[in-house]
Amino acid sequence: MSRLVQVQGERPIFPGNACVHCMRPATQRIEIVKVRGYVVRKVDVPFCEDCIALRRAKSPRQVQFERLATGNSLLLALAAGAWIYTLVRDRGWVWGVLLAVLSALIVFGGMYMLVQPWSSGFRSPETKRVLWAATIRDFDWHTTTLEFGNEEYAERFAQVNRKE
Ligand SMILES: [Zn+2]
Repeated sequence: MSRLVQVQGERPIFPGNACVHCMRPATQRIEIVKVRGYVVRKVDVPFCEDCIALRRAKSPRQVQFERLATGNSLLLALAAGAWIYTLVRDRGWVWGVLLAVLSALIVFGGMYMLVQPWSSGFRSPETKRVLWAATIRDFDWHTTTLEFGNEEYAERFAQVNRKE
């Protein structure tokens, strides 16, 4: 169960410099961001070394998927390049090669943009949990509402940020 805590302003106090996920001593702050229309709210949230590593970790399925996808993207890019080359080579091979390389790069780049979000679906449950340990649920000019996965942490956070 997650818990919502609303604080005044956009610079909340993080209790005792504890990691928001596991509550061990934090080593680094990670910026979390929420965008609404043209307005952006950013908060630096403390995490420990292990949890930061978990946030970045790729699951074996993710690695496998990305490897496969990169291979296929490369083949697709080469095929697109070869096809463009056959279409334009009559205008001279220099143009043919240039356009072929350009179209191969565009195809590869496009595939990369598709593959990355797809691959994030294969994250491990541990990585997902630590990524959702603290998020900005909502904000306005005066308040920021944070959502925490760790209820005990959320309780301590709510206490130190309580208005006097
Ligand atoms: Zn931690």
